[in-house]
Amino acid sequence: MKPFTYIAPGSVKEAVAALHENGGTARVLAGGTDLLLEWRRPGVRMPAVVVDISRIESLRRISLEGPDILLGPLATHGELMRSGVIRSGAAILASAASTIGSPQIRNRGTIGGNIMNGAPCADTVPPLIALGATVTLSSADGTRECHLSGFFNKPYATIATGEELLTQVRFPALLPGTKASFVKLARRNALSISRLSVAAVVSVDDSGLITDARIVPGAAHSVWKRTMEAENLLIGKAPSATLFAEAGRVVSAVVIKETGRRWSTEYKEPVIAALVRRTLEKCFTDNDGHPS
Ligand SMILES: Cc1cc2nc3c(=O)[nH]c(=O)nc-3n(C[C@H](O)[C@H](O)[C@H](O)COP(=O)(O)OP(=O)(O)OC[C@H]3O[C@@H](n4cnc5c(N)ncnc54)[C@H](O)[C@@H]3O)c2cc1C
Repeated sequence: MKPFTYIAPGSVKEAVAALHENGGTARVLAGGTDLLLEWRRPGVRMPAVVVDISRIESLRRISLEGPDILLGPLATHGELMRSGVIRSGAAILASAASTIGSPQIRNRGTIGGNIMNGAPCADTVPPLIALGATVTLSSADGTRECHLSGFFNKPYATIATGEELLTQVRFPALLPGTKASFVKLARRNALSISRLSVAAVVSVDDSGLITDARIVPGAAHSVWKRTMEAENLLIGKAPSATLFAEAGRVVSAVVIKETGRRWSTEYKEPVIAALVRRTLEKCFTDNDGHPS
């Protein structure tokens, strides 16, 4: 590892000033679980300046503000799993966080780092998009809020500039009657990244009909997106095994249409369909949505 200048600001103001002074070439360091691996790769170009934000206490919050849940980017996966706010208002996120790495990784890795790294297998992103999350970016010029669904340009690339710091994640807490679930398919049961994943949030009315649905496959598209074709199929109908299987086939067809047929399609086509069906079924059997 080549030497670099290390800055550990105590506030967001100092952090964005440091990013600005270095013209966007400095790298932000949070938990370091992605970054340190990147820097150990042979031949990698090290940044001249590293801005370690881990001491900025104001970036650690997990709180409820009116109907919304607010997360600081330094909230760790372990904290998300244990938070009462998350477990009662967005259990789907706690569930996704609980599948990340090992206890050591979950106690160190942050939600901000998971988002900003932009890896297609990032487990918190599909639930956050299904929850309708926005992110706040701060720089020396001010702040801007963006929908997470439009935040990624391609794998490992976001619309944030090198001078911007992710300072907040916001999404509405799930309302009564909302069901949600996250299902991850990996090569092993533990310490394994997603080969595919699905997040679903489904609302039903008093008569049991589906009034809203959000389905976000993970590690499937080049950037995450909701599958509106399958969502529209569900709306207005009563939940059933046949309906969920059909929704699964629609998601699978949409993914394959985008990626084209390749050597892996024979595997992925039925697996995506089955994973979506299971995720929708889980909404109604082992709900990670509103507890009511
Ligand atoms: C053994 C192992 C297993 C893992 N398993 C999983 C898994 O199952 N699922 C999964 O999703 N991930 C997994 N990961 C990846 C990683 O742990 C997560 O992506 C983690 O959330 C990254 O957070 P961090 O704080 O460590 O980020 P860092 O490594 O500190 O930073 C990651 C990137 O985000 C940028 N960044 C961080 N915070 C900010 C901010 N506030 N503003 C702007 N830029 C920022 C950094 O500059 C860097 O580019 C695993 C990693 C390891 C090493």
